[in-house]
Amino acid sequence: MPDLPPRPTAPTHRVPRVLSGQKAIVTGANSGIGRAVALAFGQAGADVVVNYVVGDPSADEVVQTIRAEGGRAYAHKADVSNEDQVEAMFKRMIDEFGTVDILVANAGLQRDAAFPEMTLAQWNTVIGVNLTGQFLCARAAVREFLRRGVVPAVSNAAGKIVCMSSVHQAIPWSGHANYAASKGGIKMLMESLAQEMAPHRIRVNSIAPGAIRTPINTAAWQTPAAYERLMTLVPYRRIGEPIDIARAAVWLASDDADYVVGTTLFVDGGMMLFPGFATGG
Ligand code: NAD
Repeated sequence: MPDLPPRPTAPTHRVPRVLSGQKAIVTGANSGIGRAVALAFGQAGADVVVNYVVGDPSADEVVQTIRAEGGRAYAHKADVSNEDQVEAMFKRMIDEFGTVDILVANAGLQRDAAFPEMTLAQWNTVIGVNLTGQFLCARAAVREFLRRGVVPAVSNAAGKIVCMSSVHQAIPWSGHANYAASKGGIKMLMESLAQEMAPHRIRVNSIAPGAIRTPINTAAWQTPAAYERLMTLVPYRRIGEPIDIARAAVWLASDDADYVVGTTLFVDGGMMLFPGFATGG
């Protein structure tokens, strides 16, 4: 097997302007995948709310980058697991941008522990941010989509939601029961919401990333030994970059994906292909 170099993080060309004039909110947008999605949405022509919970300078950097490239953006600090803060965040967005066309429910975290040692606080924090956070943001977005309805000049749909899930909505993960449970929950939340909202022309889908190079999983890729171990799980033999997910999110949120409803798009370099069986089984 040739030792393939990891791909550079910078996009090689701009993303197509398929979200012109649309208003998007990206949660957890001052780091990793959310940051890349917010920047790509700005390049695609959307106005972007950059949600974050800690790290004013990094949120500001995302906003300034979008503005420097000609887009509109502002940062909004809010904990997605807090109902009042989520409601206030959407109210401000509607005040400032007029409406909401796209939600990317991306904010997420891990609090890993062997199961016998897992505390209720670790369980509740992960379920609260990863699952309840997506419920609260999706509910606020859906209420606005239903109020406004379809505006044909903007999009074929009344609204689009992209839930950031994980391959761990399908692959069990020892030592991460809270995280895997939250992502399994996102799968059924997304599918139930997609079924309920499709008649209103609201499209709800998920992206399930594999291993993406972000601060959430530094230990899995930072040393050559860790990277090599990780590659045994990735048939495509490179780690994913945030831009790989951002391009998928732009497409899913655009009318190019108008007939895509209730689907999970795995963006994982083949991680779901049972790589352990590649040499027999
Ligand atoms: P990251 O740690 O770089 O980013 C997580 C973001 O969520 C940060 O901006 C953080 O501030 C924000 N956040 C955390 N708690 C929040 C809260 N209460 N309210 C608002 N924002 C909050 O990690 P990432 O890898 O970019 O993760 C983004 C999403 O992608 C997560 O849902 C994660 O589960 C998912 N994911 C990541 C990978 C991967 O390999 N990196 C794989 C599968 C799924």
